[in-house]
Amino acid sequence: MAGTLYIVATPIGNLEDMTYRAVRILAEVDLIAAEDTRHSLKLLNHFNISKPLTSYFDHNQQFKGERILNALRQGRNVALISDAGTPCVSDPGYNLVRDAVAEGISVIPIPGACAAIAALSGSGLPSDSFTFAGFPPSRQGKRRVFLTALAHLPGTLVLYEAPHRLEETLLDIRETMGERQVVVARELSKIYEEFIRGPVSEVISAAALGKARGEIVILIAPGEVLPKETEALDTLLQRLLDEEGLSVKDAARKASVITGSSRSEAYAEALRLRNGTE
Ligand code: SAM
Repeated sequence: MAGTLYIVATPIGNLEDMTYRAVRILAEVDLIAAEDTRHSLKLLNHFNISKPLTSYFDHNQQFKGERILNALRQGRNVALISDAGTPCVSDPGYNLVRDAVAEGISVIPIPGACAAIAALSGSGLPSDSFTFAGFPPSRQGKRRVFLTALAHLPGTLVLYEAPHRLEETLLDIRETMGERQVVVARELSKIYEEFIRGPVSEVISAAALGKARGEIVILIAPGEVLPKETEALDTLLQRLLDEEGLSVKDAARKASVITGSSRSEAYAEALRLRNGTE
């Protein structure tokens, strides 16, 4: 009979967040697959767990995945852990779980810490509906496309980001989504845990001052949700110019955020309408 694959969450900073069940399962399995064996050894030593360890990370997933599946087929129980938090959440694991499920191998998640969920629960932003979108692309062009595609979802948007890219990502959030409320949750469960809350421009100032170091989750409050029938760009601009009395620049900015059109296209259209109406 095949063994069981356990997907075990580990702490995201504070070792007290390790669950009793996680400790027991890690002590009972035949093999532990870890993203970084040296890193995980510290955790295992802390809990006096001594088990065979094998690595399972992004670049050896295919080769190691097959070996881990073989161990499971032979009836050995395997636990998968990542460097921190829940495996498969912006961490390796998905391919292995998919393949195990496809073979009918039993997969049991052992719940525990996850930075996205911890950040959401302490953010003060709406939590009844949210989207977790992982890390934005590191290059600006792709990042803006990525953010624009997420701009009109209902619910809070949760992102992971590296601290050295925080400021540029916040600037792109303002550019693509407008002046939203955001929360930067940093160093969760650690000594310098902090929530920086406010309109994105204020949080950008804090980030520019280097106040947001360490590990970071960005949360963005829901914005204007697009109606099913998107108002045509020109109708919307006409309304913003005439009824709301906005300047060409402000109308273009707002219309591009609402419709997802580029700022330059909205500006050109607003200019054309303004010139036509004057
Ligand atoms: N699997 C992990 C989880 O369940 O949260 C996430 C792994 S991902 C490679 C690492 C990212 O998670 C970091 O870059 C940061 O965005 C976020 N993160 C991890 N630990 C954190 C912490 N203690 N405080 C804030 N963010 C954290």
